[in-house]
Amino acid sequence: MRISTAALRQSDARMFTLVVQGLKAAGTRTAERCFSIPLSQMQTTLRMINQQGGRLLSVTPTDQVSASPAPAPSAANAAPAPVTTPVKHEAPPVNLYKPKDPYFGTVLGNYSLLAEGAIGRVNHITFDLSEGNLHYVEGQSIGIIPDGVDSNGKPNKLRLYSIASTRHGDNLEAKTVSLCVRQLQYEKDGETIYGVCSSFLCDIEPGAKVKITGPVGKEMLLPPDEDANVIMLATGTGIAPMRAYLRRMFDAGERAKNPAYQFRGKAWLIMGVPTTPNLLYEEDLQAYQAEFPDNFRYTKAISREQQNPSGGRMYIQDRVAEHGEEIFTMIEDPKTHVYMCGLRGMEPGIDEAMSKAAEAKGLNWSELRPQLKKADRWHVETY
Ligand code: NAP
Repeated sequence: MRISTAALRQSDARMFTLVVQGLKAAGTRTAERCFSIPLSQMQTTLRMINQQGGRLLSVTPTDQVSASPAPAPSAANAAPAPVTTPVKHEAPPVNLYKPKDPYFGTVLGNYSLLAEGAIGRVNHITFDLSEGNLHYVEGQSIGIIPDGVDSNGKPNKLRLYSIASTRHGDNLEAKTVSLCVRQLQYEKDGETIYGVCSSFLCDIEPGAKVKITGPVGKEMLLPPDEDANVIMLATGTGIAPMRAYLRRMFDAGERAKNPAYQFRGKAWLIMGVPTTPNLLYEEDLQAYQAEFPDNFRYTKAISREQQNPSGGRMYIQDRVAEHGEEIFTMIEDPKTHVYMCGLRGMEPGIDEAMSKAAEAKGLNWSELRPQLKKADRWHVETY
């Protein structure tokens, strides 16, 4: 049977529960799944069900306002309910240490992540946390207050950095935190300016004590679901939270520490760097790919070595456009989450690529994106 789409008004607030069988997710077919959706999303949801080869078992009105049952729809006309109830996260720790009373973390290690011939400086820096109560979860950030004063003679202010380690830290003892930091460098009036905090961090020696605040951040938390699909879009040091997610998913020591989180979904990292020697954590990523070929996919956009179809620099939005159909099919699965971290400049390009991919499926990205955001499935941290 078909639902008359002409009758579907966006303003209609009636809710319906759809029971669907045999949806395709991460290469396998699910048994039964329930979707609770407003009438305005019926058309898209039905199309998604159809595209994923699902069979609609029932449609029941869940909204008391409407007593009239919905006409039973047809899977032949089916579409997505990418939008479901928001993910429930355990409350993460926040602001355990404030700027007025920061934690003093001893530097345990500071090394370059770049290979020979890379542009700039990017370091992996690890701090000891064993003396206090600073703890965190994947996807959060910490504040660093660099030593010294600013141009007005006032103490330097804190800068936030995404945490690059899991809650267990790089040595799995839950007593360290690691950052991935690029030394900021730009030209002004013919002079090269270096970032205050990023230079402080890239130059810091093991044994030094650094003022740390936080943790903060709830935007980039990983869903607790082991079967979730996670699409990660990162430029440069924007890989920091993704490095933590991927360790949590695929590192053998991490998996042993997390019996309740044995990741089985699909993780897809689309990573943008200027040159091959600028690739970050490359060995680990290659190892995950070798060990978990069905669960981890890794796509690179190496801007100054590869060209996009118009002959310009290859950016991650070009990769998103290239794989738009696949990405969208994944997004139609309510278990799929997208994380974006890095340069703010990538956002319009990614939006454009997503709009085109949505359009090809008869969907409207500007309507869909806020719905994904509301369902806690679209996560952005850009600077
Ligand atoms: P980068 O190495 O300078 O650049 C990464 C890649 O992005 C390069 O290939 C670059 O290409 C490309 N790119 C430049 N403009 C772009 C655009 N408009 N759209 C898409 N790609 C673009 O990166 P980075 O210096 O590490 O910077 C990463 C950003 O992430 C910084 O803004 C940083 O503040 C932010 N961030 C950092 C953290 C952290 O904790 N470390 C966390 C979140 C966000 P070309 O240079 O070849 O043009």
